Amino acid sequence: GLRVGVLALQGDFREHAHVLRELGAHVDPIRRPEELDRIDGLVIPGGESSVMDKLARTFGLAEPLKAAIRGGLPVYGTCAGLIMLADTVIDGMNGQQSLGGLDIVVRRNAFGSQTASFETDLDIPVLGQQPVHAVFIRAPVVETIGARATALATLDDGRCVAVEQGNLLGTSFHPEITGEYRFHQYFLQKVISAAR
Ligand code: GLN
Repeated sequence: GLRVGVLALQGDFREHAHVLRELGAHVDPIRRPEELDRIDGLVIPGGESSVMDKLARTFGLAEPLKAAIRGGLPVYGTCAGLIMLADTVIDGMNGQQSLGGLDIVVRRNAFGSQTASFETDLDIPVLGQQPVHAVFIRAPVVETIGARATALATLDDGRCVAVEQGNLLGTSFHPEITGEYRFHQYFLQKVISAAR
């Protein structure tokens, strides 16, 4: 069966693990570099990207993660996970680094304090006709989309909140907490294709 890792340093990794198990995947929490060797795909959860970055570097995971991403491992990042996957981060904490991979610029905490958290419905054609109910929690936006990345979803004001690039997928919002399984399904299809 498929083995999907969930980066379990910090954040809502349990929620992702639950959805992936419901969809039939074998889930491995990832905390050490050697655990990356046995997975077919990886989810980077929501949480706090500056803390996740610090822990990843402290535990020697950052370089192996970058190598895995470069090597074509399918990775899906939500919110803080999207920030970790961005090539460039605006408004990061002092010294904050990302793993990179997605040819995008993201802005952290892009919605200010008034609307730090909100919910909305998004049309995401690749996931079918039914709109996606999306929950944003101190979320980032994709401020610039490079030539290698593709926007999958935009807000009414035109700001991009979901992207795809080859084996990489990222959303500003949290499908793992709303019972929305289509993003994880879409991701598992990438994992299946890459594992063949
Ligand atoms: N604001 C957080 C960060 O900068 C992301 C919030 C989230 O993952 N819900 O990492």
